[in-house]
Amino acid sequence: MFNWIRLLFNFLSSFKQGISVTIPVGSGYKNDDDEEEKEDTNKSADEPEEMVIPQEVKEKGWSKNINDCHQKIKDAFPLVEEAFKQSHPDCYLKVDYTYRSPEFQFELYKKGRELKDGQWVVVDKTKVVTQKDGKTLSHHNVYPSQAIDVYVVKNNKIIWSDSELYTELGNLWDKQGLVSGATWKFSWKDYSHTQVDYKII
Ligand SMILES: [Zn+2]
Repeated sequence: MFNWIRLLFNFLSSFKQGISVTIPVGSGYKNDDDEEEKEDTNKSADEPEEMVIPQEVKEKGWSKNINDCHQKIKDAFPLVEEAFKQSHPDCYLKVDYTYRSPEFQFELYKKGRELKDGQWVVVDKTKVVTQKDGKTLSHHNVYPSQAIDVYVVKNNKIIWSDSELYTELGNLWDKQGLVSGATWKFSWKDYSHTQVDYKII
């Protein structure tokens, strides 16, 4: 019995040795530490520069200026605007909210709601403007804003909901690699809303 154990031990030892010598130096093999180091390097290279919220925007708590948006939105908007104008010369696009501070977001959240037993409940559906309370961050609550709300104006009137028109507009945003609330994967739509990605990047 002892011999069997000894044989097995020898076999396992040689097997282990065999593995360790088959890894040539400089073969590209990396141990876990190397991988971690590599990831960290990539991370810091991709990390955006720290953004400082302009004082005016900070004090106000919101912005309707496209310059307070993520670069991807700033790049896409003129192209979307131009393409939309081509097919709808009678309309123009109006930029609404871009950045909203979490505090301002909460103020918006309270519209149409009342605090009952520690919960904010909807009391007037028609006055509700957002589902986000500012505590779980929306794409609007980071700076620069990773979301923008854009309305279609026709005959000097804002079109609040016209699924066909906004789906058309949404397709233009999507073409630029953004995520439009008019065409996104959720069953409920947020026609005027567009964001850089599904997740906050
Ligand atoms: Zn929005």
